[in-house]
Amino acid sequence: MSELEREIRRTGEQLADSFPSTVRHPVRALDARAMDLAARDRELRAALFRFVDVVPACRSLDDVARHLRDFLDEVPDVPPSLSAAMRIADVRAARPALGAAAAAGVKHMAHRFIVGQTPGDAVRVLRALWERGVASTVDLLGEATVTAGEADAYAGRCREALEDLARETPGWPARDVLERDASGRLPRVNVSVKISALTPLLRPDAPALGERDAAERLRPLLRRARELAAHVHIDMESLDSREAVLELVLDLLSEAEFEPGPSAGIVLQAYLRDSAQQLDTVLDWARATRRHAPLQVRLVKGAYWDHELVEARQHGWPTPVFEIKADCDRNFEALTRTLLDARPAVRVAVASHNLRSVSHAIAYNRLSGGDDGDLEIQVLRGLGDELQDALAARGFRVRTYCPVGDLVAGMAYLVRRLLENTSNESFLHERATGMALEELLAAP
Ligand SMILES: Cc1cc2nc3c(=O)[nH]c(=O)nc-3n(C[C@H](O)[C@H](O)[C@H](O)COP(=O)(O)OP(=O)(O)OC[C@H]3O[C@@H](n4cnc5c(N)ncnc54)[C@H](O)[C@@H]3O)c2cc1C
Repeated sequence: MSELEREIRRTGEQLADSFPSTVRHPVRALDARAMDLAARDRELRAALFRFVDVVPACRSLDDVARHLRDFLDEVPDVPPSLSAAMRIADVRAARPALGAAAAAGVKHMAHRFIVGQTPGDAVRVLRALWERGVASTVDLLGEATVTAGEADAYAGRCREALEDLARETPGWPARDVLERDASGRLPRVNVSVKISALTPLLRPDAPALGERDAAERLRPLLRRARELAAHVHIDMESLDSREAVLELVLDLLSEAEFEPGPSAGIVLQAYLRDSAQQLDTVLDWARATRRHAPLQVRLVKGAYWDHELVEARQHGWPTPVFEIKADCDRNFEALTRTLLDARPAVRVAVASHNLRSVSHAIAYNRLSGGDDGDLEIQVLRGLGDELQDALAARGFRVRTYCPVGDLVAGMAYLVRRLLENTSNESFLHERATGMALEELLAAP
């Protein structure tokens, strides 16, 4: 076994030892059982996803119960606990009680992933995370932006989030690991932004129009972030907007007025077959551009895998994403190494809930002489809570992506996260079904 593999095993085992026990988190154990049930039965899973989608549009609890019954009616073999629920749904008088239980279940799930309705509500949770050694980035959930008014409103909410957090965070206690790396200070205020929400005009057939329109809203946000010494991270979405997003962000950050700040970041998706070339482009840009704070690159696998596959097949295009999970995982590790070797031109954030992917980043960084403090690990609220706690306990810099918004806006987000979590090839699913640590940490 190579030295790197040995270090990965050691790191992974130490982190696994630091995972909080589910005994102390009975609610998480309950959710895990519900997710397992959903993962095992494809029809049931599909019906539940459709159900979760309609709950926010329901007018009454009676309505919720009727929908649950209708969706479960489509499942051929309903588990016993759910057939009891279906019988209750037939009794008119009992329907509101069943509806209330179902609505409460959906709300409970949503609250696991969403930290508050507004940044003001979320501040309490973000501070509690910080005190436990966990930094955050706030994501403002929104529905699809179809008008200029909606794009203005989203930009306004991003600006408010920056301002609310900038008011609150100076009162937080010092946390050296979260506030400094070899390149200098790391902002306490960190907001993640979606370009598709900043313009209704982002279309693959006319990218320049969308870029110009989004720039009108992104430029003032970057200015405000610079004034408040905050970090702005641009999320990456589906492939049809990738070129526009990257071009827009790198062009704006090259402008002289943004040389002194703000600190900013982009996302690289390892499930794309051409992601290594994409990374070369970004690194060339980073090495050639004078900016006070290095660009942060958040490496992810990618959240739109099913979408990219279906889209390509429908058009008869070659699939832009890897189709074998191990190929994607291997590419993620190769990109991790390229990114870590490229410092200090960039700051590196490895975003994953996969213990192997995360342990690989930590191990490679150590073996190549890097300091733990020069690598950031990022997780999603609700999916990466245990890994987050383990990383913080071991003194690593961990940042949790915290969505803020109402239940209706959060539904699309919730469904995407549930799909990810219950997909058979997902690391979290493999871990939940009891796969041995040795296998979980094996090379892909
Ligand atoms: C902090 C944070 C921010 C994020 N921001 C973004 C973002 O801006 N844009 C974005 O797209 N995603 C983003 N993500 C989501 C991220 O892409 C998903 O969390 C990730 O896909 C799950 O990967 P994993 O390493 O946690 O789990 P794993 O279980 O190891 O990997 C699951 C992933 O592998 C890929 N995959 C699944 N099946 C296959 C297959 N058969 N062949 C090839 N590949 C497959 C998919 O990408 C799937 O999501 C973010 C995640 C985090 C933690």
